[in-house]
Amino acid sequence: MDILRVKSKPVKHIALVAHDGMKQDLLEWATYNKGTLRKHALYATGTTGKLVMEHTGLLVTRFHSGPVGGDQQIGARIVEGAIDFLIFFWDPLMPQPHDPDVKALLRVAVLYNIPTASNRSSADFLISSPLMDSEYVRLVPDYMDRIHLAEDES
Ligand code: PGA
Repeated sequence: MDILRVKSKPVKHIALVAHDGMKQDLLEWATYNKGTLRKHALYATGTTGKLVMEHTGLLVTRFHSGPVGGDQQIGARIVEGAIDFLIFFWDPLMPQPHDPDVKALLRVAVLYNIPTASNRSSADFLISSPLMDSEYVRLVPDYMDRIHLAEDES
């Protein structure tokens, strides 16, 4: 399979998601890192985005709430190349009604080689990386190539 070189610009397209039990963590993290986050384009699931905007004053493009499809919307944007960074504080102690969507989003993030932080310390390391302010070339297998091959064989 061919490998695609997907370039992300210095302005990263960052998706923020936090389960209810983790929202306080994400709000504290976003408030602390407000200055850095302001330089990037922010997206979030419904409630997370609303709270981040209220607490930080940052502009956030909001999708539906996670349990009603927001995680899937973010996953689709990752596939399309519109989101290139994921901060997802999922709750390790609480089952979610949309657990399959959570798993799907995490899977797609790995599939597309998206930098992902699932807790606050990982998010601290990611956000303070020198790569945040530069172009970055992400290597992604050319999955469409695979589809075309399958079509050729049929
Ligand atoms: P919410 O969704 O931001 O709308 O609460 C997050 C989630 O539960 O996936």
